[in-house]
Amino acid sequence: MYLKFLLLGCLISFQYCSFSQAKKETSSQKISTMDSSKNPVYSRNATDKVNLSEEEWKKILPSDVYYIARQKGTERPFTSPFEHSKEVGTYHCAACGNPLFQSDTKFDSGCGWPSFYQPISKTSIIYTPDNSHGMRRTEVQCGRCKAHLGHVFEDGPPPTGLRYCINGVILDFAKAKEAEKSYNEKSGKQ
Ligand SMILES: [Zn+2]
Repeated sequence: MYLKFLLLGCLISFQYCSFSQAKKETSSQKISTMDSSKNPVYSRNATDKVNLSEEEWKKILPSDVYYIARQKGTERPFTSPFEHSKEVGTYHCAACGNPLFQSDTKFDSGCGWPSFYQPISKTSIIYTPDNSHGMRRTEVQCGRCKAHLGHVFEDGPPPTGLRYCINGVILDFAKAKEAEKSYNEKSGKQ
């Protein structure tokens, strides 16, 4: 009887051990493949529109990006490392790679989220009236994949007077040198 228990105990601990090892491997794989390799629609220079089902988005986006992009979530204020970033470059949509804002249109609004006064182009953003939560606001979405980005308010600085209040989670930053490199590759200059 005692031997039987001992044997069972060994078997359980062996199984537990191999389970935890498998779990470890999966999580480290997840980190290394988190970027564009898991997301077939991600491109920093494609202009075609992206139309995926919610199921497909759920498969390819990290859960925090999915929550903001597809479920119109809002990240906690003062949590984004981009909020006070002064780095020079381009902010892309984290769901599809579409270029959204240049760093020289970014300003410190103090509102708790990364803020910009102007998008890269008229087509980089879609504007939709949003009357949820008892407020009249204008929602801004990615012009390529319709990911929810945040809202735009009319209390920004000159020259536009607009404040694009954007969730940092949905932003993907490319430093100026990288942006220049991909532009050169695209236009055939090296
Ligand atoms: Zn997008």
